[in-house]
Amino acid sequence: MKAKYSIIVPVYNEQESVPLFVEAINPIMNNLNEEYEIIFVNDGSKDNTLNILKNYANKDHHIKYINFARNFGQQAAIFCGLEHSSGDAVVIMDVDLQDPVEVIPLMIDKWKEGYEIVHGKRTKRKGETFFKKITSSMYLKFLQSISGLKIPKNVGEFKLLDRKVVDVINAMPEHDRYLRGLTSWIGFKQTEVEFERKERQAGETKYTLKKMLRLAGNGIISYSTWPLSLSMKTGITFGFLSLVCFITFIVLACCKIFLPLTAWLFPTIVLMFSIMFVIIGFNNIYLRRTYEETRNRPRYIVEETKNFDNE
Ligand code: UDP
Ligand code: MG
Repeated sequence: MKAKYSIIVPVYNEQESVPLFVEAINPIMNNLNEEYEIIFVNDGSKDNTLNILKNYANKDHHIKYINFARNFGQQAAIFCGLEHSSGDAVVIMDVDLQDPVEVIPLMIDKWKEGYEIVHGKRTKRKGETFFKKITSSMYLKFLQSISGLKIPKNVGEFKLLDRKVVDVINAMPEHDRYLRGLTSWIGFKQTEVEFERKERQAGETKYTLKKMLRLAGNGIISYSTWPLSLSMKTGITFGFLSLVCFITFIVLACCKIFLPLTAWLFPTIVLMFSIMFVIIGFNNIYLRRTYEETRNRPRYIVEETKNFDNE
C-alpha cells in the first residue's frame, strides 16, 4: 500500500519564499510516487502570502492551507498543522529553504527502516549569526541540565514524525507546547539525518529577539520546575550566610571589636527585597501558566481552510 506524507510549513509574511518553496518541493514529492499533502499554515501574514497560497491551492489539490485569524507564532502553527495532517509520516519544515527539501527522501528512508522520529541535524549553520548560535547552544545546555531532558544537539524544528507520534502529541492537552522539548520527552525510536543548513533563499528572518526569548522561556517553564526550587535554595543559602554573620559578630564582640552595624543595613535590605521580588516573579510565571491551562483558551484560531477532506 502507498504511504501518505504530510509536509507542514508555517508561514508568516513569506510572499517571496512560498513560490520558491513550492517549485523546490513539488519535484521531490512527485518523485516519491506516493501520496502527499503540503499544509501551509498562514500565521497571520500581513503581506500577499495568503493570496499566493490561494492561487496554488486552486491549481493543485496537494497544496492545502490553513489561515490563522492573527499571528499566533510558529509553534502554534506547527501544532495546528499536526492536528490537520493525515499522512502516515509528517515532516515539519521552514518555508525559506534553509531546511533543504532534498533531505525529505532521506528522512523517509529512515522512517521506512522503522524509526518513528527522524530529526534533521545541522552540520553547518549558514545564515545564522554567531550570537544566535552561541546563545542557542548555551540555552540548550542550561535547559538540559535543569530539566533532565536529552535534547539532541544542532537539531531544530525540521523533523519527520510517524503518525503514532503525531497522534500522541495531538492528544496532549497542554497549552504552550515546544516541539523540541516535546519530541525529546516523548520517547519512541529516534534517529537523525545530517544536513547543511543553508542561508535563507528569500525574505528576512521572522524571528525577532522578543520571539526567541519567549520561545526560550516556554522551553524552561514547560519542561522544568527548577525556578520554583529557587526560593528554597536562596532561603537556605541566605539563612546560612546570616548564621555565619551572627557567629562572626559574636566572636568579634568577644574580642571587643564592634562594627558600625547600621552601615550594612541599607544594602542588606535592598538585596533582600530584590531576592524576594525575583522569587515572587517566578511564582507568578507558574501561577500564570496554571491560569492559562485552566482557562483552556484555544492555542490558535482558524479563519479558513482549503483542500481538506472535511470541507
Ligand atoms: N514563522 C511563523 N510565525 C512566526 C515566525 C515565523 O509561522 O511568528 C515561520 C516562518 O515563516 C518560517 C519559520 O516559521 O517558515 C521559521 O522562521 P524563520 O525562518 O524566520 O526563523 P529562523 O530560521 O531565522 O530561526
Ligand atoms: Mg529560517
